[in-house]
Amino acid sequence: MSMPYVPPPPPDDEQSIFAHHQTGVNFHKYDEHFVQVSGPDPPNAIASFEDIDMNSLLAVNISKAGYFKPTPVQRYSIPIILAGRDLMACSQTGSGKTAAFLVPIVAQMMRDGVTATISKEQQEPECIIVAPTRELINQIFLEARKFVFGTGIRPVVVYGGTSRSHSIHQVMQGCSILCATLGRLLELIQNRTVGLQNVKYLVLDEADRMLDMGFSLDIKKLITFPDMPQKDKRQTVMFSATFPEEVQRLAGELLKTDVLFVVVGDMGGACCDVQQRILQVSQPLKTQKLIEILRITGDERTMVFVKTKVKADFIACFLCQLSIPATSIHG
Ligand code: AMP
Repeated sequence: MSMPYVPPPPPDDEQSIFAHHQTGVNFHKYDEHFVQVSGPDPPNAIASFEDIDMNSLLAVNISKAGYFKPTPVQRYSIPIILAGRDLMACSQTGSGKTAAFLVPIVAQMMRDGVTATISKEQQEPECIIVAPTRELINQIFLEARKFVFGTGIRPVVVYGGTSRSHSIHQVMQGCSILCATLGRLLELIQNRTVGLQNVKYLVLDEADRMLDMGFSLDIKKLITFPDMPQKDKRQTVMFSATFPEEVQRLAGELLKTDVLFVVVGDMGGACCDVQQRILQVSQPLKTQKLIEILRITGDERTMVFVKTKVKADFIACFLCQLSIPATSIHG
């Protein structure tokens, strides 16, 4: 039997918490993105982080994180969430959407005086954030640690594929913001580690991807637990890169009728920073074509995406045999 995996804790000294990761090469281009807001009575966008009515500790944390100017999604979403409104936002990963919901939620939690309760039989987080993958939810958690630094608000991250007792232990040490993937979250609710009665903020990130991955029933389960506050008693924020019918239906179920809708750039459009070329190649000629392309790219680094783990391993081996240095990764 394999041992349950306990993820190593991330370093928690101040310098590591605020370590800056490099933003994408075209991060500044987001500034030019056109933003559309629809819905009743939207608040004005902010021009700078100084326009936010927030505790000075949060302001210091934002600047320690290296954020000096809000991105478009932040300019519009932060005042909407601060005004207590529900939000549906379409924005790409990399646009600064994580801080767009974390900053106003943390600002409101600090205003209302939230701290994590230790020594309770059950933890009742005020904020629950769900995302489709372990990588994404962990990234959200690492961002949350920056904004709550020194505030007494305790974020916790839990996800599947790791030791359940480790997740429980993390939560029981105190939890005011719970970042979770859906499966593990439902387990913790069902075994009464987590109670929902205090949920004031519910965030669903990458909602379209969650539905694509088959989490529709799990989302329903989450919002229909008897102790989950009704939608008029909580604030719900949804992010999605695309807005197909299923996402619209989910938004209709989860969000209040006076929801505000923010769209940054072209919704669901292909990324315009990347030139895309499509070559139609028959199955037996694919490998040959790949080698041809790689010979032309020379020392440029290349990523090759395939459908299966076996194929990834096979191609990596095959390329190495041809002295094209390659490696493979997969789940
Ligand atoms: P996200 O879209 O939330 O994944 O953010 C993409 C990256 O941009 C992350 O590394 C953030 O830390 C960074 N970031 C987000 N907002 C800002 C900002 N206003 N100024 C500088 N960096 C930011």
